[in-house]
Amino acid sequence: MPQKIAAGNWKMNAPDPAEADTLARQHPDPGVTVLLCPPATLLASLSERLSQTKIQTGGQDCHTAASGAHTGDVSAAMLAAAGAGHVILGHSERRADHGESDGLVREKAEAALEAGLTPIICVGETLEERDAERTLEVIEGQLSGSLPRTDAPLIVAYEPVWAIGTGRTPTPDQIEKVHALLRAQAPSDTPLLYGGSVKGSNAAEIFAIANVDGALVGGASLTAEAFSPIVSALE
Ligand code: PEP
Repeated sequence: MPQKIAAGNWKMNAPDPAEADTLARQHPDPGVTVLLCPPATLLASLSERLSQTKIQTGGQDCHTAASGAHTGDVSAAMLAAAGAGHVILGHSERRADHGESDGLVREKAEAALEAGLTPIICVGETLEERDAERTLEVIEGQLSGSLPRTDAPLIVAYEPVWAIGTGRTPTPDQIEKVHALLRAQAPSDTPLLYGGSVKGSNAAEIFAIANVDGALVGGASLTAEAFSPIVSALE
């Protein structure tokens, strides 16, 4: 059985860290993996703050190299040293803002595994690709290009670009079709997360879809009030 995971992606936002304390108090023994991925500058302090709780932390990106002349970048080993156990890779915002290719995401995933982190590899189609009925072809290509060439455990997140931060979500049938493809293509027992405008009011319906093992959550992970019902729906 794949692990159940509620992962929060704070992106380039710095909510009051007391929100994480509240979340931890609300879910002292969640029974599912609960994960917060803050900006890199907040990772060490948030990891320390949550060290006596069951809430884990992760990074939002890493470099392919362990160290060296890469101004502005952070290595997987540095994320691990700051307390992370996971790292989000290939998020559509990184693919769009930084031109990240599937091949680069694969190299990053291999570097993350080397450093002992579990990669959360993101894939997702644009609205144009969905309208052109190319969704499954796009997802299949992204996943086969981004998966590391090892059998090490990892997590895959399906995040339709047009559903991120827009309030729009695919129909259950659309999510189910993509997750069936991911289940067939990813290593067995890989947790498969859905991401894109998940909130307390739609989480239970999304978690009831076949092969959905949790969520990667952006906006609704910034407060305990918004994230806690999503965690509860998964528990
Ligand atoms: C995300 O950025 O990973 C995401 C899913 O964002 P939101 O939940 O805000 O749509």
